[in-house]
Amino acid sequence: MTQAKVALITGVTGQDGSYLAELLLEKGYEVHGIKRRASSLNTERVDHIYQDNHEKNQKFFLHYGDLTDSSNLTRILKDVQPDEVYNLGAQSHVAVSFECPEYTADVDAMGTLRLLEAIRFLGMEKTTKFYQASTSELYGEVQEIPQKETTPFHPRSPYAVAKMYAYWIVVNYRESYGMYACNGILFNHESPRRGETFVTRKITRAIANISQGLESCLYLGNMDALRDWGHAKDYVRMQWMMLQQDVADDFVIATGKQISVREFVSLSAKEAGVELEFTGEGLEEVAIIKSITGDNAQALNVGDVIVRVDPRYFRPAEVETLLGDPSKAKEKLGWVPQITVEEMCAEMVQNDLSKAKQHALLKAHGHSVAMSIENQG
Ligand code: NDP
Ligand code: GDP
Repeated sequence: MTQAKVALITGVTGQDGSYLAELLLEKGYEVHGIKRRASSLNTERVDHIYQDNHEKNQKFFLHYGDLTDSSNLTRILKDVQPDEVYNLGAQSHVAVSFECPEYTADVDAMGTLRLLEAIRFLGMEKTTKFYQASTSELYGEVQEIPQKETTPFHPRSPYAVAKMYAYWIVVNYRESYGMYACNGILFNHESPRRGETFVTRKITRAIANISQGLESCLYLGNMDALRDWGHAKDYVRMQWMMLQQDVADDFVIATGKQISVREFVSLSAKEAGVELEFTGEGLEEVAIIKSITGDNAQALNVGDVIVRVDPRYFRPAEVETLLGDPSKAKEKLGWVPQITVEEMCAEMVQNDLSKAKQHALLKAHGHSVAMSIENQG
């Protein structure tokens, strides 16, 4: 019997980490993930795959750790001896990186170096394959449309600058030490598991809550921003594929289509049975309900204003447009995204609607419902 492959995932408690862990377990891997110590439980996205560690034949293991802690990373790598390392851990929010630039650099840039150096220190650089979660944010002020592997970078946030260091240190370890190390330059990807303060999830969650009378208005920043949004499930499949090649390489992963934040709001509202009309300009722009269909939005009335602009959500430097060209991934790896932005948006809205309905029911029966992250991010 052949030995199961062993994978180590940093950021396993995040959106991508949870989908990747599922995928690798399906493929028969033994999967180890690094989770951070937090004052409350932070494993919600992987709880469904976690087995009691007293059970036999355990395939999924969690280790306490942090990308800021070299000795911890070295010990975990030494104990786990992974065939594949997926570095998905990061302070991943662009707006937050303007508020915490030093921490973002420490985790996203230095954290990547710490992992690579630990692999080298342990003499595993010829046996352990390394995947780095690089990002379309590297393109920032775009130099070419659409963006591909050869498009020059111009990062526009502390997050993107930190990820640029990570990108190049991965290339450098590949060139210097012959490591199998690659960058997936992933464009935005979302899902029902997307963090609640990224714009898509903020929108689907707010639309669901508003439709159930739990919130009254969604406040957004730059609604003109254009993004190439794909589904996280499609994108983690590609992360695995990148480590199964003979030669390590870097790939752009994108759908090749873009829509604006405003269009994503309209799509989400439509899925909840609400047609919106945007009117006004700049800070005065609002979205008004034009018509209501179905029975999801009984708490609402035609003419209600449910989206407004709040300059708090503008960024010191904005990335206005991102559109990827995934031709290389399609040609060399045979990867094609299977889920459209419309399908993804529908899945996210339905997921948030079912949560909102549960909250509304609790509220109707006198229970207090904490909407603690309302309109953050
Ligand atoms: P998430 O924010 O959902 O997950 C980030 C993960 O990193 C979480 O598990 C988080 O832990 C962990 N983490 C944060 N800080 C540290 C730290 N100091 N040490 C160890 N782990 C840490 O991100 P996604 O899953 O969406 O993205 C995965 C990766 O891909 C990230 O690196 C992101 O920057 C990158 N990326 C994402 C894109 C996207 O559109 N989703 C696009 C391009 C790149 P905790 O749960 O405790 O917070
Ligand atoms: P990013 O592409 O990694 O920054 O992902 P986000 O989902 O955080 O943001 C996508 C785009 O939506 C950016 O151009 C943001 O400026 C824009 N945006 C507009 N309003 C908001 C908001 O309220 N929250 C967030 N997170 N982004 C917003």
